[in-house]
Amino acid sequence: MYRLAKVSGIFYVILLLSLLSSCLPGRLQPFSPHITGFEKKELNKAVIYYREGDSISEFTDIDSLICQVEESHHLQFQRKVAFFVMNSEKKYRHYTGTRARFVAQPLYGRIYISPRAKEEYRADLIRFDTYIKHELSHSLFFQNVPFIRLLNYPGWFLEGLAVYTAAQAGTDGYYSYESVEDTIRAGYFAEPRDWGTITRREGETVRQCPLKGKYHFIYSEYAWIIHGLVLDFGEDKFVRFLHDSLKTKDFYALFRSTYGIDFDEYISQQMP
Ligand SMILES: [Zn+2]
Repeated sequence: MYRLAKVSGIFYVILLLSLLSSCLPGRLQPFSPHITGFEKKELNKAVIYYREGDSISEFTDIDSLICQVEESHHLQFQRKVAFFVMNSEKKYRHYTGTRARFVAQPLYGRIYISPRAKEEYRADLIRFDTYIKHELSHSLFFQNVPFIRLLNYPGWFLEGLAVYTAAQAGTDGYYSYESVEDTIRAGYFAEPRDWGTITRREGETVRQCPLKGKYHFIYSEYAWIIHGLVLDFGEDKFVRFLHDSLKTKDFYALFRSTYGIDFDEYISQQMP
């Protein structure tokens, strides 16, 4: 009975979002089943939406990147991954509400690519495959987690997982694991819980981290924690933890029962 009520609750949320999106084009576009105004290229595992005249030559091997990300998470995408290659920064911000260069949005896990990102990967200033794998990790997660769980899911774990999956630490400005440890030794640390969740804003150690380009450190620090978990307890256990975390209400209780140690205790043991 409870399950039925929950399922129909989610159905009504999706229905409401769909109705709102047809009245409010723009910010709700990522959640709308209707897509207009884009050219469309369909591949085995992805659909690329782009503006007429734009090039999407970078997406030739996208199916293989998608398979790699599925394999590393031991999860499958529930539907083709939709990419939106944007031509206007204004429209990008309107759709996504962010200034970040790339973003994956909840629910369908659609991935948006800003004109700035496009310029940078075309000029070889950033790695296309690495950034795309990062967003694919988020997209895969969004397609597999019930929306209700996502609201309180620890954001630090999502970002750490994406950086870890994409082997992003040490590339394009992101701290290597070695520099993360050096930086922690120098007295900087962003508490994982301070990253917040969809419903809880960032805490003090993230907001007030004084490092220049602090997100390059913080993202890598969270990936460093995941890297440590895999080293200490093995990949199989990590994958099981990841899968179980999609179904549990209490991430940190699951951490304790899986790893046999309290999360905060584990973190203090990891300090270099
Ligand atoms: Zn991310």
